[in-house]
Amino acid sequence: MSWGFERGRVYNRRADIHGRFGGQQQGGIITPSKHKLVIIITGEEGLAHGYADRLRPDGVFEYFGEGQVGHMTMQRGNAAIASHSADGASLLLFRKTRSGLRFEDEYVYEAHHLEPAPDRLGNMRDAIVFELRPVAAVVEKIEEMTPTSPDLSELRKRAFAAANATPAKSMSTGSVFERSRDVRDYVVARAKGHCEGCSQPAPFLRANGVPYLEPHHIRRLTDGGPDDPRFVIALCPNCHRRVHSGSDGAEYNGKLLLSMSSIEDY
Ligand SMILES: [Zn+2]
Repeated sequence: MSWGFERGRVYNRRADIHGRFGGQQQGGIITPSKHKLVIIITGEEGLAHGYADRLRPDGVFEYFGEGQVGHMTMQRGNAAIASHSADGASLLLFRKTRSGLRFEDEYVYEAHHLEPAPDRLGNMRDAIVFELRPVAAVVEKIEEMTPTSPDLSELRKRAFAAANATPAKSMSTGSVFERSRDVRDYVVARAKGHCEGCSQPAPFLRANGVPYLEPHHIRRLTDGGPDDPRFVIALCPNCHRRVHSGSDGAEYNGKLLLSMSSIEDY
C-alpha cells in the first residue's frame, strides 16, 4: 500500500487520483500542489512513436519523460520526478489499462540519461529517460549495508549531499542505495542511541553493534530512499508503528515535525 493504493489494483483517474489529490487532468505526469506526491503514468503512447518505457533486468524501470515535440527539457513534470526525493515527495507509478489505471509500485529516482527518440511529429530528438528503482528494493538493500563512517560531521555532510543530489546540482553522487544509506547512517548516528520521538534508548543493538532505530520520513507516507535529513527522524519501532498505524498517527507525525527544528539546526 502506498497512499492508499494497492499494488495491482485498477483505479479511476478522475475519482481516485484527481478526486483525492487534485493535479493536472491531462498528461502522464501529475504533480498535485497540495500533496507531497508525483504520479506518473506509463502507457502505450510511446509505442506509437517507436519507443516505450521498459523494465531493465536489474530491476530499474526506465520511464520516458514528458514533452511531445522537440528535445525534452528538465522542467515541470520532468523536474518533479528528478527532485522528488529532495522535495520529500513520493513517486507512484500507474499503468494505463482498458479499465483504468493500475497501480504498479512506488519508485525512487536514481538517475536519468538522454536517448534519441522520435517526437510526435516523427523527428528525432533527445528524450529524457528516467531510471527508477522500487522503493521497497532500496529499503531492503540498505538494510544489509553496513554503516560508513563513525564521524558525525562527516556523516552529516554526506547525508545533506545525498538529499540534494538533484540533476540541477550534480549527477554523480553515487547510487540511490548509497544515498539512502548516507541519510540513514547520519540520522541514526545523530540520535546517539535514543529514539528521537520518545527519547527512550533503542530497544536493542543490531548485529553490527549499532543501536536499532528506524529512519522515518516525516513528509511522506512511505519510508525509504534519500530525503532531506531535516525531515527524517530516527525512531524506535514503537514510535514508528505509532506514526503509521496509531489512531493519533497523523497528529504524532505533526509533533515530530515540530520537534525537528530542535533536533536539526537550520
Ligand atoms: Zn520512540
